[in-house]
Amino acid sequence: MSSSFSFFSLPGNSTWTQGHKNLRKTTGQLIADRKSLDRVFIRPEDENSKKTLVKYMEQILFGLHDFLNRNVGVTDEISLTELAKNYMDVEISDHPQKNLGQVIEDIIKDIAPKAVNVASPYFIGHMTSALPFFMVHLKAITAALNQNVIKMETSKVLAVIERQVLAKIHRLIFKQSHDFYQAHVQNTRTALGAFTSGGTTANMTAMWVARNRLFPPKDDFSSIEEDGLFKAMRVHNTDRVVILVSRRGHYSLRKASGILGLGNKNIIIIDVKPDHTIDTDKLKQIIQDLKQEGRTKIAAIVGIAGATETGTIDPLQEMADICEQEQIHFHVDAAWGGPILLSQTYAHLLSGIERADSVTIDGHKQFYMPMGTGMVYFKNALALDAIAYHARYVNRKGSVDLGIKTLEGSREAACLILDASLKIMGAKGYALMIDHGIETAKAFAEKIDARPEFELVTPPVLNILTYRLVPMVFRQKLKTARGQTRKHLNQELDEINIRIQRIQREAGKSFVSRTRLKLVPEDDFMVVVLRSVIMNPYTTEAILDDILDEQEQIYHQL
Ligand SMILES: *Cc1c(COP(=O)(O)O)cnc(C)c1O
Repeated sequence: MSSSFSFFSLPGNSTWTQGHKNLRKTTGQLIADRKSLDRVFIRPEDENSKKTLVKYMEQILFGLHDFLNRNVGVTDEISLTELAKNYMDVEISDHPQKNLGQVIEDIIKDIAPKAVNVASPYFIGHMTSALPFFMVHLKAITAALNQNVIKMETSKVLAVIERQVLAKIHRLIFKQSHDFYQAHVQNTRTALGAFTSGGTTANMTAMWVARNRLFPPKDDFSSIEEDGLFKAMRVHNTDRVVILVSRRGHYSLRKASGILGLGNKNIIIIDVKPDHTIDTDKLKQIIQDLKQEGRTKIAAIVGIAGATETGTIDPLQEMADICEQEQIHFHVDAAWGGPILLSQTYAHLLSGIERADSVTIDGHKQFYMPMGTGMVYFKNALALDAIAYHARYVNRKGSVDLGIKTLEGSREAACLILDASLKIMGAKGYALMIDHGIETAKAFAEKIDARPEFELVTPPVLNILTYRLVPMVFRQKLKTARGQTRKHLNQELDEINIRIQRIQREAGKSFVSRTRLKLVPEDDFMVVVLRSVIMNPYTTEAILDDILDEQEQIYHQL
């Protein structure tokens, strides 16, 4: 153990924050008493103790260096079952067991090596990746300030900054007039959106608003929030409330329908066209069918801007036309694709998003924020009134607190991280990352096409693509195979691709994920495809070649 750090030398003797050297001699003697309590709460004022705290920060910032530099390591080298055996103790120790330095060191030495290095440029399987390093500093400062943006009394200026950041992103999406933003940016009676814990709760919030707006006051019914869904449906002669989304919809919508009491069978799945975007003819047909039913209400139609599996984007303009004509809430799930709007080259792919009623964007995806931030935006600055809440002790009626219009209660000031990041990166900085991802994915697709043993299944519209390994022998056979023969050949290919993905993951150098898709919409079966998401600016074409080479090698060794 290096003695250059983790020696905490605040004045006084042994306790929670006692140094290692001391601890070694006095193991078991860490004690929790008033003195030690003071030591962990009182910020160090003298030079020595400040230095010590800085050392701990250094330990965190640079101690993970090795971890972040190695390969991916999602291996089963130590299986989850084996790992779990080391984490069976469920007792909380009476006495302090470790000081801060030790705890940090344990995390660096024992825990990080068994975690997944999502920062590796060889990790191209999921929507989680390397972060700009300043995010660590920004996360630290939000923790140091520990503001709670649920209300003004625990956040003050942060509540104002949150409004400003929300307005900036709202403007990026909806491009309303200067006057509109001047009227709303700091208007405490309206809300342009809300920060959430992720895309799931953002979608949930949007569906919550959409559901409530379906049931306006009528007779002795005032609102769903007050009278409940059952009365709403009775008073409004409704049997069923549905949400329409394509087959590529994210399962958070199903969770939303569960929580909102709609039932997830009432998420009506619309088929996709061969390019995996929603089939709008089928969408129109289903809307007509539902209208015939009479007692069914459509809460929302959801367009996807960057589908989780394929990265594909629904025809948002056409969907907006349909929603406008049918007077249906149009939600765009841009959890993944939203930040594309910052790219001058690719923003046009999201054309039509400005006509949505609500939009979800994840902060912890392509805004490259640390885990735990989503956002939901509403074109109408009064839309969130449909879910406004008041608690006597927190936010009184007429309150200007942000917590009255969010699903979450207490929240960290994630706005500070996004605001700072937008300042540090600028739209151009973000565009560099976004353009790199899309262009590298396109180059990757060409590489896949050029290799005789690979088949590109979904070409990248954004920075996500799927493909599979199809050995030459299968290629020949598939050319003429029909019906059951074709299905069986594909099942064999599924086996091969599952094994390749697994073995590559086990080797711990690279990681692509896998999912199942229909090759053509008419198929009654799905095939296994390898999925890659390219968002790390250090994922180069050479790395992608390595990954394909490795997959080929694995196949030939099978
Ligand atoms: C990731 C994602 C979500 C869910 O977001 P979480 O942050 O994981 O809750 C929803 N929709 C789409 C399209 C996504 O890609």
